[in-house]
Formats: sequence, structure tokens, C-alpha cells
Amino acid sequence: MKQYDFLIVGSGLFGAVFAYKAMQQGKSCLVIDKRNHVGGNTYCDKVEDINIHTYGAHIFHTSDAEVWKFVNQFVKFNHFVNSPIANYKGELYNLPFNMNTFYQLWKVKTPKEAEDKIKEQQGQYADIDPKNLEEQALKLAGKDIYQKLIKEYTEKQWGCNAKDLPAFIIKRLPFRFTFDNNYFNDTYQGIPIGGYNPLTEKLLKGADILLNTDFFANRDELKNKAKTIVYTGMLDTYFDYCYGNLEYRSLKFETETLDTDNFQGNAVINYTDAETPFTRIIEHKHFEFGSQPRTVITKEYPQKWDKTKEAYYPINNEKNDSLAEKYKDLAGKEKNVIFGGRLADYKYYDMDKVIRLALDTANKYLNK
Ligand code: FAD
Ligand code: UDP
Repeated sequence: MKQYDFLIVGSGLFGAVFAYKAMQQGKSCLVIDKRNHVGGNTYCDKVEDINIHTYGAHIFHTSDAEVWKFVNQFVKFNHFVNSPIANYKGELYNLPFNMNTFYQLWKVKTPKEAEDKIKEQQGQYADIDPKNLEEQALKLAGKDIYQKLIKEYTEKQWGCNAKDLPAFIIKRLPFRFTFDNNYFNDTYQGIPIGGYNPLTEKLLKGADILLNTDFFANRDELKNKAKTIVYTGMLDTYFDYCYGNLEYRSLKFETETLDTDNFQGNAVINYTDAETPFTRIIEHKHFEFGSQPRTVITKEYPQKWDKTKEAYYPINNEKNDSLAEKYKDLAGKEKNVIFGGRLADYKYYDMDKVIRLALDTANKYLNK
């Protein structure tokens, strides 16, 4: 006799949204997570009365009106707009690439002057069909921006040559001829007032939750508890790596409390040179316009992934993507198991995309 309708492996946004939709239809859910908290990578700690983005800066942004309406039922969002600064060997530039950046680089003052300068910078790359990240960046922005703001940051972030990375990674970044430092082009943006924990806690209200519980430590027993499994963990692990390992990029976070109320004057500063070992410094209070007397900062160091480390980013190159497809064929044949989320789909999803996917998946399976 199965005790629950669903066993949900992973309490990140995919698992939590699916659980919410299932419970709305009267289904019972057991949610497990190997970590000691719910919320996946959106989880926030509280230090010095500041919400700390424990797994790296998380800014909610979307153009999906339905997703925006969905999350606003649970939490209210503040008016935070992500406007990171790049520090290249002590020189400061606005991101994303916009008229402020172009002025700081070349002292061009009008869109026409900037467009002419970019054309000169693009040179032979202007009309190519970009095959990799380096070509994509040179075509988009030309050589100065590539050298100072993209190449070294990207190679540090991904641990490989920019020529060996797919072009799509950089297509996320806006490039505009207006004085607009908003990192995203989306219609809606903000940080949940009070951090992300209330969002996942409200989504999971009514579910039974087991923390510090790894699905693979007790797979058979856990499987027997529910009619259907919703699996949001790593795709290759589920199939015991039968076709080989997928590759990931990991991160190390170093967090410190400082005896000053304002360390860097911005939530996110990227260090785009190769010599600085971290990619960015996050000053958490600025996500919520905090006025606490002290501050907490986190340095984010990219690192090589192995099975002892957290898998933060799938490395979506051709080799890994074709391996992931083989695993997805197996996943499609697995009875009574639903796969979804950043790790189970092996995709570089933002939060809104994960919520959209969980809503669609829930509609598909719950209304069949
Ligand atoms: P996760 O949040 O990773 O949740 C998966 C959960 O499953 C985890 O809690 C994990 O512990 C658990 N789990 C895994 N395996 C097992 C197992 N075997 N047994 C039990 N539990 C298991 N998105 C944005 O929209 N904006 C941003 O600014 C942004 N910044 C980001 C910055 C960083 C550094 C990273 C890494 C991601 C960022 N994202 C951002 C993406 C965002 O984190 C994801 O879209 C979202 O968290 C994905 O939700 P998920 O449920 O798929 O996965
Ligand atoms: N990127 C860059 N310079 C920057 C910021 C980003 O070259 O200052 C590139 C880098 O390759 C990165 C990609 O753009 O992996 C996407 O950046 P984003 O800030 O969206 O990455 P995330 O927050 O997901 O790590």
C-alpha cells in the first residue's frame, strides 16, 4: 500500500511548485531533500538580520505574466533592479553592455558614435555565424569589451577556453544603445521582501518533509512510499551513470561579516580579470535596501566539480548535451517517475523557467 501520491525528491522551486499544485488537487506529498533545509538554491540564511543568498545571488526576473502572478500570491517583491558593476583591474564599468559602458570605455556620447565604434571593434567578426562563445562575443561587442569584460571572466567561470563554450551562454546578456543599466530585459523583476524562504515554505505547506535524506541512500524504501516520484536531482545519478558522467561547474562561497554598513555600494560587483580568483562579490543587504549597522559579503569562486561538490551549473556543450539526451531517453521510459528542474533536465534554467516548467508538468500529469 503506497502511503503518498507523490514522493518529491528535491525541495527546490521545481519540487515545491509541483507539490503545491498536487496538494491543491487533494494529493498527498512526501518531499525529501538531502540538504538540511528546503528551497534548493534559493534558500537564504539570516546573518546580522540580513537575508543571505546562501547559494549565490538570486534575482527574480520574468516576462511570463502567469508566473509573476503565481509567485505574487505567496510573496511581495521589492523594486530591486539588478545593475551589476564590473571591476577590471581597478577600472569600473556598468553592466550589461550599454551606453554607460561605451562611454566609460571610449568616451563616446551618442548612440551613433557608439554604433560606429562597435562596428570598428567587431572588424572581421561583424558578419560571421558564431560557432562558439568567443565568436559570439566578438560579433556582438568587439574586441575591447571581449578582452576587458568577457574573456577572462568567462574562462574563470567555466574553467575552459571561451572557444570551447557554446554561444548561447552569452546571449543572455543584454546589449543596448541606451543609458540603461538594468541587467535584464524582462517585464517584471525584484527580490521577495523577506527573502525567498517564505515562498518555498508557503508552497510546501501541507506536505510531509524529510530533510537530510538522500534518495540514493534509501532508494527502495523511499520508492515504496509513493505511487509516483517527482525527481529533481541529477539525471546521470538516477541511472547509476550507466552511460558515463555528465559534467558540471561547481562554486565555493566565502562569506564574511564586516564592521561597516556599506562595503561596495552595490549588490553585485563582477571581477572580470583573470588574476582575481573569485568572479563576483555579493553584498547581500543591497538586495533589500537594508540599513543594518553591519554588512555581510560573499565572494564566489568557481571550481572544478567532482562528486563530493555541489553541481551548480550544467556544462551544456555538445558532448554533455548528447549524453544528456541518452539519459533523457531512459527517463522517458521510466514508469511512474517525472523528471524536472535544472539538474534532472540538465539545463541552465532561471527560476521563472523552472516555475513555468513545474506548472506545465503539474497540469499535464495531474489532469490526465
Ligand atoms: P534546485 O534549486 O537545485 O533544487 C534541487 C534540490 O534537490 C536541492 O535542494 C537538492 O539538495 C535536492 N536534491 C538533489 N539530489 C537529491 C537527492 N539525491 N536526494 C534528495 N534531495 C536531492 N535564477 C534566476 O532566475 N535568477 C538568478 O539570479 C539566478 N542566480 C543563480 C545563481 C547561481 C550561483 C545559481 C547556481 C543558480 C542561479 N539561478 C538563478 C538559477 C536557480 O537557482 C534555478 O533556476 C532554480 O534554483 C532551480 O530549481 P530546481 O528546483 O530545479 O533546483
Ligand atoms: N559574463 C561575462 N562577464 C560578466 C558577466 C557575465 O562574460 O561580467 C558571461 C559569462 O560567460 C557568464 C555569462 O555571461 O557565464 C552569463 O552571465 P550571468 O550573469 O547571466 O551568469 P549567472 O548569474 O547565471 O552565473
